[in-house]
Amino acid sequence: MIEKRAELEWSELPFGYLKTDCHIRYFFKDGRWSSGELVSGETVELHVAATCLHYGQACFEGLKVHETKHGKIVAFRIDEHAKRMYRSAEKILMQPVPEQMFVEAVVECTRANKRFIPPYGTGASLYVRPVLLGCSPQIGVKPAADYLFMVLVMPVGPYFKTGFKPIDLLVVEDVDRAAPFGVGDVKVAGNYAAGLRASKRAKDLGFTEVLYLDAKEKKYIDESGPANFFGITKDDKYVTPESSSILPSITNKSLRTIAKDFFNMTVEARHVHIDEIFTFKEAGCCGTAAVITPVARIVYHNKKVIYCPDGKPGPVCTQLYNMLRAIQVGETQDPYGWAFEIKV
Ligand SMILES: *Cc1c(COP(=O)(O)O)cnc(C)c1O
Repeated sequence: MIEKRAELEWSELPFGYLKTDCHIRYFFKDGRWSSGELVSGETVELHVAATCLHYGQACFEGLKVHETKHGKIVAFRIDEHAKRMYRSAEKILMQPVPEQMFVEAVVECTRANKRFIPPYGTGASLYVRPVLLGCSPQIGVKPAADYLFMVLVMPVGPYFKTGFKPIDLLVVEDVDRAAPFGVGDVKVAGNYAAGLRASKRAKDLGFTEVLYLDAKEKKYIDESGPANFFGITKDDKYVTPESSSILPSITNKSLRTIAKDFFNMTVEARHVHIDEIFTFKEAGCCGTAAVITPVARIVYHNKKVIYCPDGKPGPVCTQLYNMLRAIQVGETQDPYGWAFEIKV
């Protein structure tokens, strides 16, 4: 039980930064990790020539902590996030964070900020942001020797202001966020900078986000901004792109399991040709921040497809969303052990 919570309008929270009581830091120096230190300030001091500042040696994660219906505090699939951060770090030659330390950092930071955990039933959750930075000075391009690992937490509302409401996607063909043998499959900071101009164009033209095609052939769907994409076929298959340049979303992985186990759907992870958008009956974007965001409309070349003519999410997206949310907040039994309990 959390006795004294922060005084916040829990149901009105945006998805954005909010100052909490502290964050946790670990340093890697002389070949070993320090123990975690809780810090109340909001700034870090970095060497002016740190590799994270000049050469993008930075990676991060994003996961959520929920209060369940029964008053437990749980982190969703924390082990998967720890493993993914390990892979991200390895791919850009950073010192990886041991899984055990990742879990400890999330637990300690959540405990220290427990008054910011949104109450069950408000739709809000505690967003957890681990970040790993290369810190040693390096002007020649080389990996750093020293690293800083931090975990911040903040209460957030839904990612899209509209909540579980359908959004519009624009296929942008003259911008690539990632290449087939690049780093699109890991959560490194630079991928986001690479995609900003495509997102901005989509937004300027009145869309919510961009839908990327594969960089090489421009034929297959990759993903949508910071979220994976899936389509629902008329015969109820869950189809999601497999590509070496998309980030393997843990939400997508969970939805695939739920689609198969709970709703008896066939799941296909494969190349998805862009023309298939015209054959789907529903489509969605998925990720930790928004869980599922149903897609209302996609514009590709001068053609468009409309999945939600009445502006309402389709039944398959709705049922997948409801089931995943129910597992996350303990409204239904969690048969997979996805919820990791944090004793606060
Ligand atoms: C984080 C992220 C996602 C979503 O992954 P989840 O594990 O579901 O949160 C999808 N695409 C990109 C590019 C991402 O960075």
